Amino acid sequence: MIVTHGCASHVGHVRETNEDAHYCGRRVWAVADGMGGHAASEVASGPAIEQVRLLDASPGELDEAAVRDAVAAANAAVLAHTRRHPGTRGMGTTLVGVARVGDADGPRLCVFNVGDSRAYRLAHGHLAQVSVDHSEVEELRALGIITAAEARVHPLRNVVTRCLGLPQAPDADTWLVRPRAGDRLLLCSDGLTGEVSDGAIALVLLTVPDPQEAADALVAAALAAGGQDNVTVVVLDVGGDDAD
Ligand code: CA
Repeated sequence: MIVTHGCASHVGHVRETNEDAHYCGRRVWAVADGMGGHAASEVASGPAIEQVRLLDASPGELDEAAVRDAVAAANAAVLAHTRRHPGTRGMGTTLVGVARVGDADGPRLCVFNVGDSRAYRLAHGHLAQVSVDHSEVEELRALGIITAAEARVHPLRNVVTRCLGLPQAPDADTWLVRPRAGDRLLLCSDGLTGEVSDGAIALVLLTVPDPQEAADALVAAALAAGGQDNVTVVVLDVGGDDAD
């Protein structure tokens, strides 16, 4: 399985600093959306993404347990960063990513998530969200109290129910995806999904073949729609004969 990537990030039109961070590596890719930092040096997404980089650099084949351990290490790293920098209490970050893992049945992609950044998969021309948002509005939507359309404009839409940086390490959700040649995955912060509908995201992913150009086009779409938040996008294309 060969995975090619494109990635793009922009501070947006309103914020002064970009608290998002991302990593595009050999076999691990991730997006983190930091919250509560007061200066660039205090952004919580950085220490979390560093643990993702270490996961990619670790020896041997990865598995789901290694991915979970990396998310736990990311939580500890954000906590340690907070303790070293007084005044950053309450700082946290989301983390969503994909890791190529081994499995008895062949290669798999392990999608992992804590928070409300998102992972999507485009397969057979259809875009579907793989991750489940850890947010107040997703809980309300899942209970049928509000619709998906109402969730997009709800006053609580920015309230996350799980993030990294908490004393009690949050559970990461993981999904094992069987990769197929031609599949495209998208990782993004809510600076994209808050501005651009899933339909418009799908249109870009379907019509822009190059992953870097697709990532750039998605960030441009978020900026054109308002750019109220930092926006970060990673596009992954699955290719190769052994993609199963
Ligand atoms: Ca954000």
